[in-house]
Amino acid sequence: MSAVIPLHRADGCADAPVLRERGQREVFCGLTGIIWLHRKIQDAFFLVVGSRTCAHLLQSAAGVMIFAEPRFATAIIDERDLAGLADANDELDRVVRRLLERRPDIKMLFLVGSCPSEVIKLDLARAAQRLSGEFLPQVRILNYSGSGIETTFTQGEDACLASLVPELPAAGAQEPASLMVVGCLPDVVEDQLARHLRALGIPGLQFFPPRSSRALPAVGPNTRYLLAQPFLGETARALDARGARRLAAPFPFGVEGTTAWLQAAATAFGISSEHFEQVTLPARERATRVLARLRPRLDGRSVFFFPDSQLELPLARFLSRELGMRLTEVGTPYLHRELLRHELEWLPAGTALSEGQDVERQLDRCRALAPDIVVCGLGLANPLESEGLTTKWAIELVFTPVHGYEQAADLAELFARPLLRRAKLAAEAACS
Ligand code: SF4
Repeated sequence: MSAVIPLHRADGCADAPVLRERGQREVFCGLTGIIWLHRKIQDAFFLVVGSRTCAHLLQSAAGVMIFAEPRFATAIIDERDLAGLADANDELDRVVRRLLERRPDIKMLFLVGSCPSEVIKLDLARAAQRLSGEFLPQVRILNYSGSGIETTFTQGEDACLASLVPELPAAGAQEPASLMVVGCLPDVVEDQLARHLRALGIPGLQFFPPRSSRALPAVGPNTRYLLAQPFLGETARALDARGARRLAAPFPFGVEGTTAWLQAAATAFGISSEHFEQVTLPARERATRVLARLRPRLDGRSVFFFPDSQLELPLARFLSRELGMRLTEVGTPYLHRELLRHELEWLPAGTALSEGQDVERQLDRCRALAPDIVVCGLGLANPLESEGLTTKWAIELVFTPVHGYEQAADLAELFARPLLRRAKLAAEAACS
């Protein structure tokens, strides 16, 4: 088995036409990202400045977190604020002071904008600056928007990380080359990828975001970075502006994606192909063997992606190339061609691609194609299930550890399980 995977292909979907739709959309807002961001940066607090709807969204998405000392909350903008009868800035300052007095463990506070805070034009950037003046150096106060207007739910992470980039310490041109892995990963996945990268001999390895707000990685002209998630366009732009250079690669999903992603780092740091082979071969072989066992459950089955998480293209590539699934339509909220160049090249030629959404039209296409499994948001899953289609919630693919060799089988299982459940239901129905 060769580790050398061609990163450039003449075929695939690099220049394929994309159906662009700008109609009604069914997506969650960027506040959702707080659920995984607060787990990652363990001394940060996320204060949403929003409505009861925002609070409900967070609470229902977070579920079990109500038992822990929370690290996110919603400062509710009420009718008086909306009518301009109260000074929302004074109220916000009061809430922040109370919070920080009560919680000395908080070292970084994000003021997270929402639809209501944007409607009343509450300037959270200015609020963050004002409050930073009061609380630095104990607490760093930043802001970003998690608003649902014209966004999708993974953009919250992008906006959060982009707001953090200006805070990163500067690494000068004389600093040795280093690698930054960018994107919020579960700790277990981060540890696995770190083990592979360190075994390869990659110098100055850092992860962004870090687990502690006091350990922000330095960035400068000798920083190379690898995106671990495909939805970090703003963050990538901010890092580029700080002089860092992105290593172009597919995303680390499945054996191929993970190998090519590690290979991009190895190539950039002059690691020999023999050493690369030696370090990655055992994990690659293990993951390939497990995937081979799962493949018969997915091979030849068809899948339709509604636009939701922005993971659609890498996942479609994994399902088609490593598990033999047929792609009926691959929808994505936004198609960032540069970040997804390798993924496009690896999709089978002729794949139907769409960007944005006109939900009714897309539902019609989906029904007409009658795929074996549909990947979609929560709002569409129940209606489609009731019509007899098998669905997979896109949000589960973001909440579950799915990156790297060790998770390749779990990722495949996420698609195999709903098909098995549907087959069991059909068998039970036939017997009754
Ligand atoms: S930010 Fe907007 S879309 Fe998100 S929960 Fe609040 S009101 Fe709803």
